[in-house]
Amino acid sequence: MNIELLKALCETPGVPGNEEGVRDLILGEVEGLFDEVRVDPMGSLHCVRKGKGKDPERIMLLCHMDEIGFLVSHISEKGFLYLQPVGGFDPRNLFSRRVRVCTDEGELKAVMNPAGRPVHIASAEDRKRIPEPHEFYVDTGLGEAAADKVKVGDMVVMDEPFLEMGEKLVSKALDNRVACWLGIEAARGLGKAKTKSEIHVVFTTQEEVGLRGARTASYSVKPDIGIGIDTTLACDTPGVPEQDRTTVQGKGFGLHIRDGSFIADKALVAEVAALAEKKKIPFQRTMLRSGGQDGAAAQQAAAGARVFGIVVGTRYIHTVTEMVDRNDLQAALDILVAFLKSR
Ligand SMILES: [Zn+2]
Repeated sequence: MNIELLKALCETPGVPGNEEGVRDLILGEVEGLFDEVRVDPMGSLHCVRKGKGKDPERIMLLCHMDEIGFLVSHISEKGFLYLQPVGGFDPRNLFSRRVRVCTDEGELKAVMNPAGRPVHIASAEDRKRIPEPHEFYVDTGLGEAAADKVKVGDMVVMDEPFLEMGEKLVSKALDNRVACWLGIEAARGLGKAKTKSEIHVVFTTQEEVGLRGARTASYSVKPDIGIGIDTTLACDTPGVPEQDRTTVQGKGFGLHIRDGSFIADKALVAEVAALAEKKKIPFQRTMLRSGGQDGAAAQQAAAGARVFGIVVGTRYIHTVTEMVDRNDLQAALDILVAFLKSR
């Protein structure tokens, strides 16, 4: 398992609209794996493997490159940075974070905290209140000089190293560098042999703010089959009732049937389940009450496509401690390669 690649993908900053660093890393990795590679006007990276014969079936894999993060929205006179979140943050996870401010000249290490008083002098009311994301600010330690280095629109990401813990992998950006990794490794897994279908692995932009890159990318590909590859919840942890756990880690890839954005094609779900059983690849069927993923964009582009999702159960999602199980990741890779070879 190419964990070094996953680590590099996770540690490269890339919030919505700022995916260039991640895209450059992927560009280096996919050399020689595809017949055609291009970047579209929204910044999504299209990697195409030609199929056999005339007018082959088009299968599109959608792997979003962006991670949740922030853009600097204001620099105060004293040099504190105010932020707008890009992606769904839970403010309870934002206290006392180390962050990276990415400027044109390079990165600044900084810290993020909510405006207000420390515990020693906080009132009982203060202690109970959870600030809104816009109440957090970043301190670069540079004071007023921050204004010379940072500008409105610069991205800010969490500063957390990738961790291996037994079978588990932990990072701030497994959502969705896991899919970037799967898109690259699935292409590698296909080897040199030509598939019947034409395969489009598309690394999309701006998913976390509403599947934006996937919409335009899908419209240009007009796939017959779309596969939304993403993380999903793994609430197999204390404090969540069994019926809400979504996935159990270590029980295989998630065959995604429904979320707030799409309902998967029934025949495809049956086909993938039968293939997984035949190949002895562990899987679990997954549903999510709300939230969406890129598969929905493929399903509804142009005249529409048949879609399903391949997902990896992730504990502590949208925090700096996102955690996946490497066996689930391997199962997701195995089913992708098996499915692409089967068509
Ligand atoms: Zn995602």
